[in-house]
Amino acid sequence: HQNTLGDGLVPLINKLQDIFTQAGVDNVGGDLELPQIAVVGSQSSGKSSVLEALVGRDFLPRGPDICTRRPLVLQLVHTPYQHASHHNQAPMEWGEFLHRPGEIFTEFEAIREEIECETNRGTGTNKGVSDKQIRLKICSPHVLTMTLVDLPGITRVPVGDQPADIEKRIRDMILSYIKRESCLILAVSPANTDLANSDALTLSRLVDPDGKRTIGVVTKLDIMDRGTDAVAYLRGEVVPLRLGYIGVVNRCQQDIAQRRSIREARASEAEFFRHHPAYAEVIDKCGTEALGWTVSRILADHIADLLPALSDKIATRRAEAQRELKSLGEGRPEDPGRQSAMVLEKLHGYAAGFTKSVVGKSDDLSTA
Ligand code: GDP
Ligand code: MG
Repeated sequence: HQNTLGDGLVPLINKLQDIFTQAGVDNVGGDLELPQIAVVGSQSSGKSSVLEALVGRDFLPRGPDICTRRPLVLQLVHTPYQHASHHNQAPMEWGEFLHRPGEIFTEFEAIREEIECETNRGTGTNKGVSDKQIRLKICSPHVLTMTLVDLPGITRVPVGDQPADIEKRIRDMILSYIKRESCLILAVSPANTDLANSDALTLSRLVDPDGKRTIGVVTKLDIMDRGTDAVAYLRGEVVPLRLGYIGVVNRCQQDIAQRRSIREARASEAEFFRHHPAYAEVIDKCGTEALGWTVSRILADHIADLLPALSDKIATRRAEAQRELKSLGEGRPEDPGRQSAMVLEKLHGYAAGFTKSVVGKSDDLSTA
């Protein structure tokens, strides 16, 4: 289980989409659209690392310097699992860039190289920043269909080719993404700086003052000053946040240089929390997996909000079908009216158990 975000929700959403297809409701994809998720924070706070951990794949440029210099709009598309066979050589997981249409990338390493090259094409190699998007689509059976946005981090002092007003430009760029009500904000702050000075929290508060769509992510728990821990941060005692905080340990630069895998990184993150008893009392707020579940829960709530409108749609269709049926006389067992009624029933039961089954991970999702 490497992909955290997809684990629980992918089968659930698939099931929902199946039900809607059965019910003959069109454009469900449009209605069931998952909110966009954007990461914000200061440079090198660990935004790209968090996003990558959430997707469970290695493909974003990360580093101590300014790596993300253009917004990367990452469109994840869930594709059905295909059993490998001699006849079917289609790749399971692949990426395609908007600027290179038709070219299929099957190696995530190659995707990262292309992001780097395209960043340089748009901004030069000397640390320039641009608001020109890079758009990447990743198709995989292990992801949820939704959009993630990796953004450049806040910097204050212009370096290289950066203009004098670099800070304002980056802030405006970030705000243009996170101001949308449908954008879920991952506000990333490193644990080794004071949370009260967090750029991420300052920015997210501008567009989401009530904290309805901001999740605090505290990174770098492993490199805090010895003798300190982030428990007060995670409990929301320093800067309260309605949806709360999750603390994570991602790969350090040496891990990246040594090409440590995401799997190894997860294992050593778990090891870290085991060895730091202070975190025991907030263990539900610790780790990339907890982050994945938190995001999933919020997405599930979002879908649960949409369900009444969707089932109204189905009810309308059902009424239509019944009228049609009356005008045709006696119905056959497989008539559309009865089918819709059954589907509608299913949907209502499903809506009721939906959020519960996401939060209480133990449910057998395949039979949900
Ligand atoms: P971004 O600029 O906010 O996108 O940050 P990156 O994800 O590129 O990470 C910046 C640097 O911090 C990289 O060298 C990462 O290896 C390192 N880093 C990120 N998260 C952690 C963490 O939790 N612990 C440690 N030790 N290093 C981290
Ligand atoms: Mg980055």
